[in-house]
Amino acid sequence: MSRVYNFSAGPAVLPEAVLKQCAADMLDYKGSGMSVMEMSHRGKVYDAIIKEAEQDLRDLMGIPDDYAVMFLQGGASTQFAMIPMNLMKNHKAAFIVTGQWAKKACAEASKYGEAVVVASSADKTFSYLPDCTDLPIPEDADYVYICENNTIYGTEYKTLPNTKGHILVADISSNFLSRPVDVTKYGLLYGGVQKNVGPAGVTIVIMRKDLIPDELPEQVPTMLRYKTHADAGSLYNTPPCWNIYVCGLVFKWLKEQGGLEAMAKHNEEKAKILYDFLDQSKLFKGTVVKEDRSLMNVPFVTGNEDLDKLFVKEAEAAGLVSLKGHRSVGGMRASLYNAMPKEGVEALVAFMKKFEEEHAEDANNA
Ligand SMILES: *Cc1c(COP(=O)(O)O)cnc(C)c1O
Repeated sequence: MSRVYNFSAGPAVLPEAVLKQCAADMLDYKGSGMSVMEMSHRGKVYDAIIKEAEQDLRDLMGIPDDYAVMFLQGGASTQFAMIPMNLMKNHKAAFIVTGQWAKKACAEASKYGEAVVVASSADKTFSYLPDCTDLPIPEDADYVYICENNTIYGTEYKTLPNTKGHILVADISSNFLSRPVDVTKYGLLYGGVQKNVGPAGVTIVIMRKDLIPDELPEQVPTMLRYKTHADAGSLYNTPPCWNIYVCGLVFKWLKEQGGLEAMAKHNEEKAKILYDFLDQSKLFKGTVVKEDRSLMNVPFVTGNEDLDKLFVKEAEAAGLVSLKGHRSVGGMRASLYNAMPKEGVEALVAFMKKFEEEHAEDANNA
């Protein structure tokens, strides 16, 4: 067996201890004589798994009792529709467009009401976050929507926008559980788990209970009503049982690591190693303005497409994989999620140094 350093943006690296636990539990989960994949979601054993997962998540994030936690399917992309279907009472919401995901969420919401773009960083290829201190948010907007960490472009909010009293809705898919969060500042926050939490197939929605509508237009599908899932404890229909179990193991692992404060420290340390190198490199350049840099996704370029390609190829051969940038940015992107060890970032930077020395001439000509 040989494990690589996996810098994929998602599905992404998971803690080795969790994978080993999955392997150990695979054929016989805690004496049940079966795998979690094989058991009824209505049985006692599974009930304990999903309840414990929810409680551990509540402990980690400090989720108050007046917030519901839902384990849903359909990916973050389904939330792009589910949120406006459930929250657009006035048929209007404000969007801060800072990348592809916010743009897609905005486009989807516009099918259900007016999606007003109140700020955007599209003018500079989403390489920064707009000033969000005094936005022209319509009075009657039902909520303000952000994508808190922009997986593709590598920006991350350090302070939340001034919503002027409106409900804040945030996509936290790619910085979920990467640092402490004050849940009470949000009406709804959600994320697909495949970036920083678990295996693809689960979307976690954390939502103020009083925002869950009792009544919705007849044609809103049962499965797309938050009430359906909140009332049923995420067991209205068959949930992605095994995936939720793995998320639960990750929550326990995070608790063992010291929780989200410890994770934030670990993630800051790791990102600093890479950003410090980028800031002094003659060959590699980060693509994001310093103050908005993400701790999770770090895009960088050499300025020469052929050299970028060569770098990705040689890095892969050296066991540093999935460094190719998103097709809309090009270059490289290193995702440094919770489960990426510090050694992985050190190995990446050492490899970048070596590559830079070997290509000093290309750097001068770039
Ligand atoms: C990956 C990603 C999505 C899309 O997630 P799916 O689960 O594939 O629908 C949405 N938002 C952000 C921030 C992402 O990183």
